[in-house]
Amino acid sequence: MRVLGIESSCDETGLALYDTEAGLLAHALHSQVAMHAEYGGVVPELASRDHIRRALPLLKLVLTEARVELADIDAIAYTQGPGLAGALLVGASIASGLALALGKPTIGIHHLEGHLLSPLLSEPRPEFPFVALLVSGGHTQLMRVDGVGRYELLGETVDDAAGEAFDKTAQLLGLGYPGGPALSKLAEQGDAYRFKLPRPMLNSHNLDFSFAGLKTAALTLVRKEGMAAAADIAAGFQAAAVEVLAAKCLAALKQTGLQRLVVAGGVGANRSLRSRLDAEAEQKRFAVFYPPLALCTDNGAMIAFAGAMRLAEARSRDGRFTVKPRWDLGSLSAPRA
Ligand code: ATP
Ligand code: MG
Ligand code: FE
Repeated sequence: MRVLGIESSCDETGLALYDTEAGLLAHALHSQVAMHAEYGGVVPELASRDHIRRALPLLKLVLTEARVELADIDAIAYTQGPGLAGALLVGASIASGLALALGKPTIGIHHLEGHLLSPLLSEPRPEFPFVALLVSGGHTQLMRVDGVGRYELLGETVDDAAGEAFDKTAQLLGLGYPGGPALSKLAEQGDAYRFKLPRPMLNSHNLDFSFAGLKTAALTLVRKEGMAAAADIAAGFQAAAVEVLAAKCLAALKQTGLQRLVVAGGVGANRSLRSRLDAEAEQKRFAVFYPPLALCTDNGAMIAFAGAMRLAEARSRDGRFTVKPRWDLGSLSAPRA
């Protein structure tokens, strides 16, 4: 079965084709990052308009690359939420329109389930159950995953998401928006031991996180030391964030007794986090899995894949559809067999 995936929850338009036999056939992405950069953040109305402009050309690209005709698609998966209402509506209406025209069913996918299952697009594929660290621009959560739709929240951030803290700190250091990758690059030239930043909630005896204080600590340092210390501040910030993330992952593995860790979301692309977790995995004998690098941030492939996992829920539509700008991941259930 071939599933078309459409992602448009925020500032990336992603289209992809996933085949339940052959795997990922093609995916294409347009990031609006450059467009929003001058505003220092995502402007919802601009995001919606750009999704409209980009979606169909990306669809053509994906079909050509996969050598698949529109008529050969069996189902259309789209991000139903959570996200920006207007942006979600673009993907949902394109999915619904295509479905109506082609006589194919649609599947509404939870964006975070897409992130969560994206490591299953890598080889080797992690088996269930596993602990998942979801570290993205909007979320920082640890979950126990027993199967598709079987998610138990173990802990989450009480304030900023990790990606948000990377972005805000990067902004302080003049690295633009979203600055996570740039901050990580600058940190490689810095001395992580020069400034000891706080490790928020490291000893909180639960699996929750806090990142707002880290950003404030970086701000204090910038004011005191000036931009000449930018690389060392970046390195100190990254070391603190990585240490807390890694420590909580270990604690989650211990608490659940599981031996597989899956990392998903944009911050999962961070090299320092990956090498720390790889080292811990080797030493403590657990297995760690990541999505392919290009599929850490938002993309259509993870939506097509999640759709393939939920084919049983594919429904023919009469052209009506809904989006869910707010949607609790814990409310999902396992797909009916
Ligand atoms: P959500 O999925 O929670 O709604 P989102 O879709 O905006 O949020 P993602 O696309 O998964 O989040 O990830 C984007 C975030 O990842 C940004 O905050 C970005 O700075 C961060 N990020 C990407 N690459 C890196 C990196 N190498 N190091 C640190 N952070 C990174
Ligand atoms: Mg994004
Ligand atoms: Fe995302």
